[in-house]
Amino acid sequence: MKTPDLRVRVAAAVAITCIAVVTALALTLYTASEDLEESLVDQIVGEEMTYLVRHHLDNPHILVREPGPNLQYYVVRNDADIARLPTSLRALPVGHHEIGTGIDEQHVAIREVNGTRFIVAYDAGPHELREQQFKRLLLFALATVTVIAAALGYWIAGLITRQITDLSARVATLDPGMRRAPLARQGQDAEVSALARAFDQYETRIRELIAREQEFTGNASHELRTPLTAIRTSCELLEAEPGLPDKVRARISGIATAAQRMTGQIETLLYLARAQVAGTKEAVPIAECVKDAVQPLLQEIAHKQITFASTIPGDAILLVNRQALDIVIANLLRNAVMYTERGHIRVSLDGDWLTVADTGIGIPADQLPHIFGRFQRGGDQGEGFGLGLAIVKRICDHHGWRIEAQSIPSQGSTFRLKLS
Ligand code: ADP
Repeated sequence: MKTPDLRVRVAAAVAITCIAVVTALALTLYTASEDLEESLVDQIVGEEMTYLVRHHLDNPHILVREPGPNLQYYVVRNDADIARLPTSLRALPVGHHEIGTGIDEQHVAIREVNGTRFIVAYDAGPHELREQQFKRLLLFALATVTVIAAALGYWIAGLITRQITDLSARVATLDPGMRRAPLARQGQDAEVSALARAFDQYETRIRELIAREQEFTGNASHELRTPLTAIRTSCELLEAEPGLPDKVRARISGIATAAQRMTGQIETLLYLARAQVAGTKEAVPIAECVKDAVQPLLQEIAHKQITFASTIPGDAILLVNRQALDIVIANLLRNAVMYTERGHIRVSLDGDWLTVADTGIGIPADQLPHIFGRFQRGGDQGEGFGLGLAIVKRICDHHGWRIEAQSIPSQGSTFRLKLS
């Protein structure tokens, strides 16, 4: 179950505390008022009884006192008097009694003096009515306090959590490696400021780490380029030798292609190492980009007897980072050529959607969702390491491009790239 956010929890805590305090107070008040009324009524009944007895003893010929609005007096001397009593009073013994409930409640005092029974009955209904009103008032107060406390708690919690919410909003938009103003600011609460400083320090460490990694990748790529250039030059020189057996020539060509591919990958690594600094956008003629990317693959295309066609008009221009687009198209085309043995490869542009479609071996449905992952290889075919598409995806993410793949095994694959 999802825990409610801090603000709601603080509001609930304040409301619950208020409910507890007000309930305790209400209960105390209610009990105290009830006790007070009870003792008041008992006192009235007792005093009236004393008065009734004295009055009767002084004036025995006056049989019954006039009843008051809440009081009834009875003097019982014989069976006839008993018959005149209300049934509820007849069987009661001497003493103090409470009979009936709610607004029918009566407090009854019974005393016997010289064989005469004196009864004073006090109608406590009005008291009960007042008590019920008081109870309703307390409940209303409780409900009002609960609502006010919850609203107040929510508001106070909002004040407390606002700085944290602000901080988390700023952390959420942080781009590692980018220069920015420190998160710790003047006027922050001590705890929030400590948290912001911790984030700032953490971010500095990340930036240093990225810088170290970039420097290493940059250096390593640089070091690798030199021997690769030597290999490629040697291959070209060897291929130019007359009278080489076809088998040897094919081997040399294979070495040259591999060296060419490796150079491409190293260029990509170099690019990625610098990619944190998002490259500048420029007006790129897309057809030219595709032409450059397919150039190193033409020999293989001819060799495999597949056809390549680009329907992109020469004047189609998009505002993108050229180097990034070169790498992405080169990778998509290289894959298309590598995994296609017959048919064609087509490149087209529709608005800012660039499509590379082939009629190759296709990608099994269960692997399709994973092909952009690192070291994900669809099968035994091809000689890659499953890095190409991972790099493509990373570049696309970095530039805010969308890439999607569709494929039908044995029929072909289509990669669609949205360049905006
Ligand atoms: P690799 O270096 O192995 O080609 P990629 O990351 O470029 O690695 O591709 C990952 C996997 O996706 C490949 O191993 C292959 O199985 C599959 N794949 C990529 N492009 C195509 C394509 N055009 N046709 C068929 N399979 C493809």
